[in-house]
Amino acid sequence: MTTPAALIRPEILALTAYHVPPAAGMIKLDAMENPFVLPESLRAELAAQLAQVDINRYPDPSGEAVKAALRTAMAVPEELELLLGNGSDELIQLIALALAKPGAKILAFEPSFVMYRMIATMLGVEYVGVPLGPDFALDRAAALAAIAEHRPALVFVSYPNNPTGNLFPAADVDALIRATPGLVVIDEAYSAFAEDSFLPRVAHYPNAVVMRTLSKLGLAGLRLGYLVGRREWLGEFDKLRLPYNINVLSNAAACFALRHIGLFDAQTAELRAEREALFAALQAMDGVKAYPSQANFVLVRLADADRVFTDLKAMGILVKRLHGGHPALSGCLRLTVGTPEENNAMLAALAASLAKSA
Ligand code: PMP
Repeated sequence: MTTPAALIRPEILALTAYHVPPAAGMIKLDAMENPFVLPESLRAELAAQLAQVDINRYPDPSGEAVKAALRTAMAVPEELELLLGNGSDELIQLIALALAKPGAKILAFEPSFVMYRMIATMLGVEYVGVPLGPDFALDRAAALAAIAEHRPALVFVSYPNNPTGNLFPAADVDALIRATPGLVVIDEAYSAFAEDSFLPRVAHYPNAVVMRTLSKLGLAGLRLGYLVGRREWLGEFDKLRLPYNINVLSNAAACFALRHIGLFDAQTAELRAEREALFAALQAMDGVKAYPSQANFVLVRLADADRVFTDLKAMGILVKRLHGGHPALSGCLRLTVGTPEENNAMLAALAASLAKSA
């Protein structure tokens, strides 16, 4: 009898589908979303705009209006092109698909964003995970040695890194780009919360592109990622993009949101300040090691992360358990920065959980 197991590649049979735990009614600090909802006046304006959208028609295939709005809002260098993805996840897939020649390798640092490895696996491309050093610092010598040994076609650098929150030194990333025979994708999903970005200088590199997303800015539900780079790269990736990957409602809502970018900038500024307050509070707690972050989350290490996770959940607070993933993350939880009230509730619940074991 014909079975999936007989026909599907073993590495796909071994995968588990991306799982998101139910979060209804909970304080949701697990997915790096912006916790602020749109103000009522803007909701009404957005609804009016969406009511004008002709959903009987296919979208503009290349999303020119969104690209023009992004160009202005994000100060995209004039000489560079943009490519839109259904979330930056889709862009990772497109880039990997384009570079997946037989024998090609994809390299990333570990622990980092799990989709780099997952997409390599899905495409049957060899993946090289280069371990980060103590406290998740980029080990420049090890990175350069791995690049020299494996000569990867594609390197992903999460800048800042998820789930550790740190921003690798720009000089080290520069050295990696120069040493890599392939393409380097600087994944700036968290750039709104970070002190540095490669966007203003990426045009200087023949082999680097910057990837970003509107998700962490407050628009996770729209699913809109964008890639910025030279035409010779983006033109090739564009050939692999499925037609109409950004639907008409996301197109219209993204244009609307980008016209109100000041609101999202103000929210991200508030979240950066909240992150510092949260980090300071976590650092002051006995039994918690907090890692400095340039993103909208803080990674912590605890003696009994599983129990704390379960206690928080019982108290209505959902965070991300990383325990059980990469060995360097044993005992780690990732706490998304929420509103001040949500962060205070989380800190109180954490203190209560830790007090039980003291
Ligand atoms: N890159 C990194 C480093 C991320 O953490 C995420 C989301 N967790 C993404 C890309 C994907 O984001 P999205 O698909 O929502 O654009």
